[in-house]
Amino acid sequence: DGSAFDGETKSICPFCGVGCQVSVKVRDGRVVAVDGIDGPANEGRLCVKGRFGFDYVHHPHRLTRPLIRRDGAPKGMNVDPADPLTHFREVSWDEALEAAAAGLRGRGREVAGFGSAKCTNEEAYLFQRFIREGFGHNNVDHCTRLCHASSVAALLENVGSGAVTATFNEIENADVAIVIGANPVENHPVAATYFKRFAKRGGRLIVMDPRGQALKRHATHMLQFRPGADVALLNAIMHVIVDEGLADRQYIEAFTENWAEQEAHLAGFAPETVEDLTGIDAETIRTVARDFAGGTAGMIFWGMGVSQHVHGTDNSRCLISLALMCGHVGRPGTGLHPLRGQNNVQGASDAGLIPMFLPDYASVTDGAVRDRYAALWGSELAAERGLTVTEIMDAIHTEDIRAMYVLGENPAMSDPDLTHARAALSKLDHLVVQDIFLTETAMYADVILPAAAFYEKRGTVTNTNRQVQMGRPAIAPPGEAREDWRITRDLARACGLDWDHDGPADVFAEMAQVMPSLANITWERLEREGAVTYPSFAPDDPGQPIVFGDGFPRAEGRARFTPASVVPPDEQPDAEYPMILTTGRQLEHWHTGSMTRRARVLDAVEPEANCSLHPATLRKFRIAPGGDVRLTTRRGSVTLMAREDRAVAPDMVFLPFAYVEAAANLLTNPALDSFGKIPEFKFAAVRVENP
Ligand code: SF4
Repeated sequence: DGSAFDGETKSICPFCGVGCQVSVKVRDGRVVAVDGIDGPANEGRLCVKGRFGFDYVHHPHRLTRPLIRRDGAPKGMNVDPADPLTHFREVSWDEALEAAAAGLRGRGREVAGFGSAKCTNEEAYLFQRFIREGFGHNNVDHCTRLCHASSVAALLENVGSGAVTATFNEIENADVAIVIGANPVENHPVAATYFKRFAKRGGRLIVMDPRGQALKRHATHMLQFRPGADVALLNAIMHVIVDEGLADRQYIEAFTENWAEQEAHLAGFAPETVEDLTGIDAETIRTVARDFAGGTAGMIFWGMGVSQHVHGTDNSRCLISLALMCGHVGRPGTGLHPLRGQNNVQGASDAGLIPMFLPDYASVTDGAVRDRYAALWGSELAAERGLTVTEIMDAIHTEDIRAMYVLGENPAMSDPDLTHARAALSKLDHLVVQDIFLTETAMYADVILPAAAFYEKRGTVTNTNRQVQMGRPAIAPPGEAREDWRITRDLARACGLDWDHDGPADVFAEMAQVMPSLANITWERLEREGAVTYPSFAPDDPGQPIVFGDGFPRAEGRARFTPASVVPPDEQPDAEYPMILTTGRQLEHWHTGSMTRRARVLDAVEPEANCSLHPATLRKFRIAPGGDVRLTTRRGSVTLMAREDRAVAPDMVFLPFAYVEAAANLLTNPALDSFGKIPEFKFAAVRVENP
């Protein structure tokens, strides 16, 4: 009943990359309900996180005043978020900004910055500008490095654009679809409703994942392949397509390059030769190949099960090749779609929170690009690529990086090999953290700047579908907390930059001057229309859900086949660590848990750190379902509750990464994909014990 509320505001769900539009209902200055409205991605739908995960904004742990570490207070994971004043003292904004700036000013290349996909496009843009302009280098990155960096690397290399080629809603026009290395029912639940509807009307849904999942019930084929065998499996599927003459030769001829090399490479991947490695029999591989190539319109969706491997870029190369060879790109019901994990990870990447790229993936090594920015910003830019998230942690250990500005990211939970990452954070001379809670990373900070939550600020965000959408404030920030754009601007000024932005609209206008993707998308349009998909070809064009129907943004308009060889996981099980650990998310909790574990309903449903093992594994170790299990890898050990789950193979453990009390990333392997520089979160050798 709308009359029960003082007001309601249209905004965007702050969690996953689906970007559901919501109506935020407010009473007495508090958010009391959230409903789905008719956004282009969600058409009124919401999942449990969007509907019930809002009251973290009123949690008593919210940071409401700037904090400075007390003299002599130790850095580290020993601060109670309910009582930060044991280690920090409250100060005025002037004092905090001056202290933050004093530790950064004049330090040039010793400074690094982690921006955030939790923030708006305008905030991401200002953040990367601050690091680049303020410190004269490109050591700025964000969590895309930990989720889809390898997918973006492969897409840029082979398609010429890092974004999806079609919205996920296009599955309505498909007759076959692959979902691989993703668990959308839990991680992109509203997108999953479209996938289920597709299957219900007879679409052939092919799910491939080393772990079983709820989407299996709707699938024509469920291929539960051996972890790390993705490249072999995908090459074998492509081998069959070539071998049985199912490839779309006309499309290949018209729109691609390097086919001869790809075809020759695939000759070595007969399905029989990969049966043992993949755990999938040759006949099933053949059937799936025929189904996908034989479809009139096919889509491929993938998640971090594909991207978070040392061969993550190769996995995406295979998926791109598979779509291209079937001509499943650029038409209704076709496309390549890496499902983005955060509210604005597409937008933060587009806005330039990447060490190799200025906004819209303009290379920092391109002199003409740098000249354009120099003219706009009034300062020279560095030509060298900067360090990535995990490289920055290594550079702290070697004392090349001595100071950091972290906005909304939580590397003390999200980096691989947390012992290494936390040691790095404690080693910094100066750490400034800007966030809404005293995160685990903030526990290492020298200065903490309290920020506004998503429903407390205005700004644009770009979802997995390339839809730029307007987020609006429903309530005021608590205490003295401020919007992130404003804090970054004031810190930049305190560091000596002559910035005069007076609001997000102003920043958006500056972005539109240098970002071709924003052509025909204005702040006023977004205020009026709520969402515009890029590219938009005219001021009244709502944008293009499907791109590349008439060629690709590469030389001669051709996409490329890049053959991929099998690269095994970095670490193999052995006598000491005989099982395989894989990590991921659960429906109720989002990423490092700082928000959803402070949302009453979500925390009540899933309150305790847990992992999942096959019943036979639990029996073998004499662990009762619900009892404790100890997991140990070469990097660390955690003890937590064991769940029985037949979806997990008997030699595997699935460990969600939202729980600080049993942090998954104490165990994960920091080995990187050599192209996308993404860590291998999806495969580590682990020992399982009854504690
Ligand atoms: Fe929010 Fe994603 Fe759920 Fe939509 S599907 S309500 S964006 S978490």
